[in-house]
Amino acid sequence: MSSRTPIPVTLIPGDGIGPECVAAAQRIVEATGASIEWDEQTAGADVFEKGIASGVPPETMDSIGRTRVALKGPLATPVGFGEKSANVTLRKLYETYANVRPVRELPGVKTPYSGRGVDLIIVRENVEDLYAGIEYMQTPGVAQALKLISVKGSEKIARFAFEYARSEGRTKVACATKSNIMKFSEGTLKRAFERVAPDYPEIEPWHVIVDNCAHQLVKRPEQFEVICTSNMNGDILSDLTSALVGGLGFAPSANIGNEVAIFEAVHGSAPKYAGKNVINPTAVILSAVLMLRYLGLFEEAAAVEHAVFVTMESGTLTGDVVGYDRGTSTTDYTDAIIANLGKRTDTWTIREVKPLHLPELSADTDYVKTTSRAVVGLDVFVESPLSPGELGASLMELSHDTRLSLKMISSRGTKVFPPTGAITDTVDHYRCRFITKENPGDLPDEDVHQLLARISRRHRWMHIEKLQEFDGELGFTRDQGEN
Ligand code: NAP
Repeated sequence: MSSRTPIPVTLIPGDGIGPECVAAAQRIVEATGASIEWDEQTAGADVFEKGIASGVPPETMDSIGRTRVALKGPLATPVGFGEKSANVTLRKLYETYANVRPVRELPGVKTPYSGRGVDLIIVRENVEDLYAGIEYMQTPGVAQALKLISVKGSEKIARFAFEYARSEGRTKVACATKSNIMKFSEGTLKRAFERVAPDYPEIEPWHVIVDNCAHQLVKRPEQFEVICTSNMNGDILSDLTSALVGGLGFAPSANIGNEVAIFEAVHGSAPKYAGKNVINPTAVILSAVLMLRYLGLFEEAAAVEHAVFVTMESGTLTGDVVGYDRGTSTTDYTDAIIANLGKRTDTWTIREVKPLHLPELSADTDYVKTTSRAVVGLDVFVESPLSPGELGASLMELSHDTRLSLKMISSRGTKVFPPTGAITDTVDHYRCRFITKENPGDLPDEDVHQLLARISRRHRWMHIEKLQEFDGELGFTRDQGEN
């Protein structure tokens, strides 16, 4: 079963229970005869303590740059050594845009869903969305986080989801978004999904609103095969799906990009169990199975998966499943899996997986090209203790001889000027929408500067957003009741 040339893989034992889980996976992979040349490197708590703010030292980055594949244990994000997560650093450094989180029913693990054949994958966009980490306090009392979703990033993750489904012979891919409310950001993913779906005619595409997706996952999880979703939605849904099959001890994951892939458990470093030889290493072992498949070592991957299933079928289970007073130790569990290599389960299906084809998209930075565009107005965000009526009157006076007129003001997302009769609890943070008085085409920046200079005379503004049209389509949302 061994491949001829050793394949280099970076091995990061990680923090807490990480080294125990990673050692288990490494021993099992080696026992299959897979020819892998491990390059052990550090990341996480020790590295933070040495003062490396990213939590990832240059040697580890060099190693991953060379091997392009890593198997890693969980990394703790210690409080007090900088605010960055080494995990997020690694995912972002190598544009591992797809986070793949498969879950399936497992032998011997009793859950409320046992017998229903849960076997699904969350494909979560791994780079963009609210996880871009662009957050501000716009006023002392109002916070803002930017939810950035690109057409290119959405097409990549949508294509990846279909390609992953194809490699596993799956028949349906769902796209879970909140596009009914966030028409531009979440809608971008939905539209990208709908655009690429026809390239995969053998796979049935469907869209599900993410809140209903959560509901359906609890009610009838067996209806799902692959769920393609945005970063935030995927984070939440994938913890839910881990719980469907027995918890974090069984949830593997892969962070895959076109250059680099990093395989790791969904769980963290569970420090209270560190060094006790009691934890469940299955999530990291199954992450190694995903890695073996990614490396094209399909026989070795299937051998490990069969051996894990045979071991669990025989009732050899760790403490998280049967209670820590009765559970098999981490090392004995690993030994049992190694002893079962070569045996096959007859009761549980192991998928036949084909090589994964990664989507290749244009490298153009201006990925979406327009033939026409125009700035048609401006949203100015103002901090003010005035009432909406007082602020509205002041802004109308300040802008009366500019090319922009005040259309409306909202506070906390609700229109408060002109008054609508709504009961609104306003705060001192207002979004003030100005539109061009006549249709001048593209509003020049000089007019924007003039308006801001006028507003600055009396009010504190902290943020502006240009209102734009691309190819005649509005590039901004209208407020409720706005025409
Ligand atoms: P956690 O480490 O995942 O542990 C939460 C609980 O899950 C544990 O207390 C334990 O439950 C159970 N658990 C997790 N892995 C298990 C395993 N292999 N076997 C048996 N039980 C397992 O989450 P956390 O306590 O929130 O986070 C601890 C640290 O890990 C933090 O520093 C966090 O930043 C980091 N983290 C890292 C990653 C990563 O590297 N990808 C991911 C998540 C968190 P019981 O207590 O019920 O027994």
